[in-house]
Amino acid sequence: MKRIAIIGGGISGLSAAYSLEKQRQAGAAVEYALFESSPRLGGVLVTEHVDGCLIEAGPDSFLTEKPWATDLCREVGLGDQLIGSNDPDRKTYILVRGKLVVIPDGLMFMVPTKILPAVLSPLFSVGTKLRMAQEWFHPPRKAEADESVASMVERHYGSEMVDRLADPLLSGVYGGEATQLSVRAVLPRFADMEAKHGSLGRAMLAARKKMAQASKGPARPLFTSLKDGMQQMVDAVVSRLPASSLHPGTAVQGLQKQNGGWVVSAGYASDEFDAVILATPARAAASLIGGTSAPLSAELSGIDYTSSITVNLGYDQKVRASLPPGFGFLVPRSEGKSMLAATFVHNKFPHRAPADRALLRCFTGGARGQNALALADYQILRAVREELRQIIGLTAEPQFTRIYRWNSAMAQYGVGHLERLQRIENLLAQLPGLALAGNGYRGIGVPDCIRSGSESASRVLAAVGLSEAKSLPTTA
Ligand SMILES: Cc1cc2nc3c(=O)[nH]c(=O)nc-3n(C[C@H](O)[C@H](O)[C@H](O)COP(=O)(O)OP(=O)(O)OC[C@H]3O[C@@H](n4cnc5c(N)ncnc54)[C@H](O)[C@@H]3O)c2cc1C
Repeated sequence: MKRIAIIGGGISGLSAAYSLEKQRQAGAAVEYALFESSPRLGGVLVTEHVDGCLIEAGPDSFLTEKPWATDLCREVGLGDQLIGSNDPDRKTYILVRGKLVVIPDGLMFMVPTKILPAVLSPLFSVGTKLRMAQEWFHPPRKAEADESVASMVERHYGSEMVDRLADPLLSGVYGGEATQLSVRAVLPRFADMEAKHGSLGRAMLAARKKMAQASKGPARPLFTSLKDGMQQMVDAVVSRLPASSLHPGTAVQGLQKQNGGWVVSAGYASDEFDAVILATPARAAASLIGGTSAPLSAELSGIDYTSSITVNLGYDQKVRASLPPGFGFLVPRSEGKSMLAATFVHNKFPHRAPADRALLRCFTGGARGQNALALADYQILRAVREELRQIIGLTAEPQFTRIYRWNSAMAQYGVGHLERLQRIENLLAQLPGLALAGNGYRGIGVPDCIRSGSESASRVLAAVGLSEAKSLPTTA
């Protein structure tokens, strides 16, 4: 019997456990133990019900185009629970000089693919509109080295595009800054498009046409979620794992390579395993592996994380009627606010708030506001409410509020991240039976984390000789 330890019980570790469980049920001679320091499993996936509203403390949905989360939900019997975002009402605003300006139609991430809406939009100055026209003739360019997203976007569209779109969009997804994040790791398609087409606008338009030709049937929603929230995914996966394999409330303090295997120490107990999946944030993995491989530990420590706070506010029908239509707004750094973004949940996923309620979810923290985590709840709330007053004129008293702090939860793929992953791969090659999973490596979203968990399971199974070794990256 081969024994595998999974350290970390967020969605990455749970996905690894689920993959191993399928192998076990198919007859593989394997058993596993999942260790999670918190008393609950699921990591940042937490759903709460308050006053008839469904509140997501962490992620509220996932990108539909990435299949791994949807596939997992279907496998664990949640196919009929999948729901799409309310895309006919999708509209996102950017705060520009204190006023909300709608993102024009045809903008794909930050690349304009429709000329008229971009030209007519007050989001951009005349100078940026001229840059958009010039961009159409950008010659193909194969970049020698990685660069920041800001640097690439600025080369194509100028600095206003970085400030008004690239930075707020990245703040919304990564809690990070366009000047720091690697274009190759965060927007790999952009680097490919520039090398092949030159103009990102022309490349995006070509990709869009190709997709439209290939796709049959109705357009899929941009975001997918679950009727009863993201916690449903955690609960369904956990219900398929034997309770004896799960050890919540058990922080792993030590990991040592010994006699061709691994010794995992948690509390006063130590246990031997043939292989280990480290599914914690990269910094925690760095500290656990420090005694075995100092170079690997140093590389893992180099992956930065930012912290995030979600502030949820419930209001009555009067407020709902007064709010702008659409999914919410993003706040560029230049506006000098602590808020990064706000979602109008009752529009994005209407059934998450009763028809006579408004539910707002605001984000603060990120790379811009790391100190926010130290503030008391009342201070965070006061700042958010004051900014909601300034931005959308909202002065009403909320019926309820919920604040969630996520300390160092959002991995930042800095410039050179892919080269770092290659060095990590090389170091892992010297440590058979060890795999990494989680949001620190090849994708921060829930679907990528699920893929990383299942790939790490395949990897360790291969390492202990229980399946054909597939050509998979060790840092899944
Ligand atoms: C506020 C917020 C909003 C987000 N929104 C979205 C979204 O809408 N869509 C989307 O796709 N993604 C979103 N993300 C990103 C996504 O949710 C995460 O990247 C993903 O869930 C991370 O999963 P994970 O298992 O890798 O890490 P985590 O959920 O962080 O789990 C890691 C686990 O390891 C445990 N651990 C650490 N050290 C040890 C130890 N020594 N021993 C035992 N256990 C340990 C921790 O307690 C933790 O539970 C969001 C993230 C946040 C924070």
